[in-house]
Amino acid sequence: MKIVYTDNNATTKVADEVIEEMLPYLGELYGNPSSMHTFGDKVNKKLKQARLRVAGLINADPGEIIFTSCGTESDNAAIYSAINAYPEKKHIITSRVEHPAINNLYQHLQGEKGYDVTFVPVDKKGLLDLDLLYDSMSDNTAIVSIMWANNETGVIFPIEEIFKKANEKGILFHTDAVQATGKIPIDVKKTKVDMLSFSGHKIHAPKGIGVLYVKKGFKFSSFLVGGHQEEGRRGGTENTASIIGLGKACELAKENLPVMNTKVRELRDYLQARLLEKIPGSSVNGALDARLPNTLSIGFDAVEGESILLLLDREGICASSGSACTSGSLDPSHVLMAMEVPFKSAHGSIRFSLSHYNTKEEMDHIVSTLVPAIQKLRDMSPFWKDGEMI
Ligand code: PLP
Repeated sequence: MKIVYTDNNATTKVADEVIEEMLPYLGELYGNPSSMHTFGDKVNKKLKQARLRVAGLINADPGEIIFTSCGTESDNAAIYSAINAYPEKKHIITSRVEHPAINNLYQHLQGEKGYDVTFVPVDKKGLLDLDLLYDSMSDNTAIVSIMWANNETGVIFPIEEIFKKANEKGILFHTDAVQATGKIPIDVKKTKVDMLSFSGHKIHAPKGIGVLYVKKGFKFSSFLVGGHQEEGRRGGTENTASIIGLGKACELAKENLPVMNTKVRELRDYLQARLLEKIPGSSVNGALDARLPNTLSIGFDAVEGESILLLLDREGICASSGSACTSGSLDPSHVLMAMEVPFKSAHGSIRFSLSHYNTKEEMDHIVSTLVPAIQKLRDMSPFWKDGEMI
């Protein structure tokens, strides 16, 4: 059965060009880039090229790029570095819809380290309460960390504006750009954020490679203390093949940004329009305009997301649900709860996240699978009668 992969916010296919670029460095070119010999230096030269390519995607200087093992490590390294830089400041600001890589870290800092954390709420469209965010900033705030775009709904936050406000008050600003990078243009020279995280496996590079951008001038303290790699900012022999693959993936992502904004956006909008038209009792979660071009979170009244996923899976369609049943809870995800998505559709929410590999035929396949699947589930549901939720 052919796989229809629409779960690209979870992870992406490694691009063929990326694999090709990596292969020599998994095979014959296995030298350590720190070695003095020419064999190792050959790898070092290729790493320099990769660093330039990675920096190019977000318009950073190569020296501002630190390679890590994943987005989660980048987020943790940024936050720990900020609180180490200002040990006397015990307040942190973030949003209620961050990924667990930030959210759980802050719960930990709040619980075990005595930090006061402001979790800024969002409205029904998933947009931040900016007044509350700005009013929370104080002399005691060590860092503001707000994601660039949300992984479930795709809603984009006004990062440039938030950075300006934080900067006016002398507060460090970090953004988790794991979902935004490669989907919308990012220019750190324009946005001026202090730190930014992203992850290879969301942009067609392999899993296990991440990036932390740290603006020149900030006294970053290492998260992994060890050798002199990454200019002493992250010890450990470099994951050479993956860094080289990531370099290629960043080059491709930059070239592909216009495709994201045209072909991918059009496919997403086509899927969204067909589903809303053909399935009564369906609604999009999140703001329609300020949204990543590849993401559609859509709720269907009176059905369970997990049941929908199973029926899609039978037809080879990969998507994900917005509820947290896998974590042993029957509640919808913390993102949908923060948005106060009504109970009736929060439980039946599905996230489709596309890439440039998807086609219109695949969107049609999703629609022709989903329409009878929802009907079948509603026929069995005690909450659905005569074409509406009871
Ligand atoms: N931040 C966001 C917004 C994400 O979507 C993810 C992964 O889904 C992460 C952080 C974590 O990235 P990684 O899987 O590379 O640790």
